[in-house]
Amino acid sequence: MKHIAVLGSTGSIGTQTLEVVRANGDIQVEAIAAGRNIELLERQIREFHPRLCGVWEEEKAKELAVRVNDTDTRIVSGMDGLLEISVMESAQILVTAIVGMIGIRPTIAAIEAGKDIALANKETLVTAGHLIMPLAREKKVRILPVDSEHSAIFQCLNGEAGNKIEKILLTASGGPFRGWDRERMRQVTVEDALKHPNWSMGKKITIDSATMVNKGLEVMEAKWLFDVDFDEIQVVVQPKSVIHSMVQFTDGAVMAQLGTPDMKLPIQYALYYPERRPMAGERLDFWSLKEIAFEAPDLKNFNGLSLAYSAGRAGGSMPTVFNAANEWAVARFLKKEIPFLAITDMIESAMGHHKKIEHPSLNEILETETETYDWLKSRFEIRKGTGGN
Ligand code: NDP
Repeated sequence: MKHIAVLGSTGSIGTQTLEVVRANGDIQVEAIAAGRNIELLERQIREFHPRLCGVWEEEKAKELAVRVNDTDTRIVSGMDGLLEISVMESAQILVTAIVGMIGIRPTIAAIEAGKDIALANKETLVTAGHLIMPLAREKKVRILPVDSEHSAIFQCLNGEAGNKIEKILLTASGGPFRGWDRERMRQVTVEDALKHPNWSMGKKITIDSATMVNKGLEVMEAKWLFDVDFDEIQVVVQPKSVIHSMVQFTDGAVMAQLGTPDMKLPIQYALYYPERRPMAGERLDFWSLKEIAFEAPDLKNFNGLSLAYSAGRAGGSMPTVFNAANEWAVARFLKKEIPFLAITDMIESAMGHHKKIEHPSLNEILETETETYDWLKSRFEIRKGTGGN
């Protein structure tokens, strides 16, 4: 029996994690947590019987506690609740499927408590990779990637310990606006940007895929997970998302992991690693696929990716600024307060304004996040006051 806790259980990755649990029958869900969706949390409590359930919003937590007072599940709230779940004795693996930098502190707490991490929350390594990876090594915990690209790379590295990576080839679908120039992207609406050609995901990551900021975050995540330099990570556009990523070794051999776009595979692989469990679902059909096409990424029109490389190369607190500015701008875009192209404009101006901290502590990372939000907020308010963005 495996014992897991799932942060972000009501989201895209969280619900698919619970589908994997349902399909296998030998995983006990010790805890779940979400932001405010207590209707779904109640259903999950009644099906999976976790010991603990975290709700970010206190009022919602109180409401849920009343609703489920006939069960043995204890309701906790806020950051204290997430931290209690992260370190609970009975869970071996923490699935971090929460969205945003809120995932950093629970991840660090879980590593300190010796839990393996099934990592979906990419913001954690992007902003705090320099703290997380050494801590994971010290505590001998495994960081098991859930992101499909990083899981693919992880799978390609099986049995390759000691062999040097020449290059990581991180594949990208190019998103719904592949081939568009900035002029055409001026008119993009929230509805347009939420239509991803291949993957069904949460809203924030779907917008990040449309700007290609997601690929930038993945580049930074790959740097920490696989201990490579930015020059050794190449993004390859492969519109059908059949190849989930590749690794090139120093003898020129390229290993790739292929499959249909289904996040349950990397989730299940992370939960059972190194075992491969049977999984129902669609298989790749090479006859109908016929060919796999490749393109270079368009860094001119999708400057989010080049900004990510700059932030990653600058290091220190700059990736936090990149990530926080993106989180803030995407939230504004989803509320239809700013146009699509303003997302990367805001990242660029926030990065330009920031005075980098070389080796930020956790507190400095969280302060940098707040400062970035505050700066963008003041700038955005001024702009609104003077006639729009
Ligand atoms: P969703 O938006 O679908 O889900 C986010 C989850 O986080 C929800 O359960 C939400 O709860 C919860 N949440 C949000 N804020 C808080 C909070 N303050 N406290 C506790 N829980 C909170 O996101 P995804 O599942 O798409 O993505 C999750 C993470 O995984 C992201 O970092 C993303 O980049 C990464 N990822 C996602 C992939 C995908 O295919 N979706 C692929 C690879 C990585 P509520 O429902 O109550 O709001």
